[in-house]
Amino acid sequence: MSLLLAAPRVLTGEGDVAPGWVELDGDRVAGVGAGDPPRSPDMRLPDGLLAPGLVDAQVNGAFGVDLAEADDDGWARVCTNLPATGVTSFVPTFVTAPVEELAEGLRRYAFRRPGIGALPGAAHPLGVHLEGPFLSPQQVGAHDRRHLRDPDPGLVDVLLRAGGDGVLLYVTLAPERPGALAAIRRLRAGGVRVAVGHSDATHGVATAAADAGATLVTHLYNAQRGLHHREPGVVGAALTDPRLTAGLIVDGAHVLPAAVAVAFAAAPGRVMLVTDAVAAFGMAPGRYVLGGEEIVLVDGRPPHRADGTIAGAIGRLDDAIGRAAAVGVDLRTAVEAATRVPAAALGRPDLGRLAPGLPADLVWLAPEGSHPLRARATWVAGRQVHGPDVAAGTPDETAG
Ligand code: ZN
Repeated sequence: MSLLLAAPRVLTGEGDVAPGWVELDGDRVAGVGAGDPPRSPDMRLPDGLLAPGLVDAQVNGAFGVDLAEADDDGWARVCTNLPATGVTSFVPTFVTAPVEELAEGLRRYAFRRPGIGALPGAAHPLGVHLEGPFLSPQQVGAHDRRHLRDPDPGLVDVLLRAGGDGVLLYVTLAPERPGALAAIRRLRAGGVRVAVGHSDATHGVATAAADAGATLVTHLYNAQRGLHHREPGVVGAALTDPRLTAGLIVDGAHVLPAAVAVAFAAAPGRVMLVTDAVAAFGMAPGRYVLGGEEIVLVDGRPPHRADGTIAGAIGRLDDAIGRAAAVGVDLRTAVEAATRVPAAALGRPDLGRLAPGLPADLVWLAPEGSHPLRARATWVAGRQVHGPDVAAGTPDETAG
């Protein structure tokens, strides 16, 4: 069935038309155009813009669920509720744990993947991100330092065996650990992407990681060696090396506005907005779990461990776009940082763009209350799963 949407502005992920229209046919985009739509539209968005569904490269959990230990109901809860924040694809992320436990998590995910993929209206998990256990004890953040390891070939192979066939999408590691550069080459040969993160690497070592095949940097600025003018560190490599795409948590707490502006100015097209969401995301203050350990959410700040260490985040990805725009990042650039840029960096050029033949994952972003941009409606595989009922033409809110 065809559905024609007209909007004051359409950001396609690589183009900008105002006004514009998008036509969906079943689960695919049938056409995108500028100016008047080819026929009377089924829905005319009064304000805001139409964009590809958002792509979040780092989600540990949400809505009370820690994905590392989620059952079928937990996966369903996360996948069917994320679209209300505009996210239509995401990367489930497991934090540091014993290697056998991580391998078991990969096998459980592989077993569940067909069922998750069949959930109607659910955001698509793109494969697992293992954040650890090959991290630096100097930049451990909220990870459990007891389980940190050097990336020995045997351990890497355990993860590769459990994470074959696209189950393991990328691994965050600290390239200064003994054996890490060989591990990067081994992971790349196994079809797995590598991110530099939770790392105290010098600029030279971070560059060597890119030489070995690393293409990502995990949550730029947070838990990594910062930029010093005589030792530019991981941040210096991320901002200047064209081979690297860096995740950035723009929740108003992890990275302050000037540093957000620096990242976008220094690395145009190479910054991807991520939430680093944890189980406390979308929930009331209280106690939750991240990687088997308790985290606490109190009002007004990111969740933390008992010792006060920040443990993940609860900021929404649609809000991150609005926050980036508020610090002067061009709106089109900010939207692309949550759509085309992460999709391309994760090896999914079919996502994060609106063009004929591509999946019909879309979001209507518009001001809402005090928020400069929020997901007012979301479509997954051509089906509206959040927002006012288009078919009925009424403004009833039917939150997915
Ligand atoms: Zn982290």
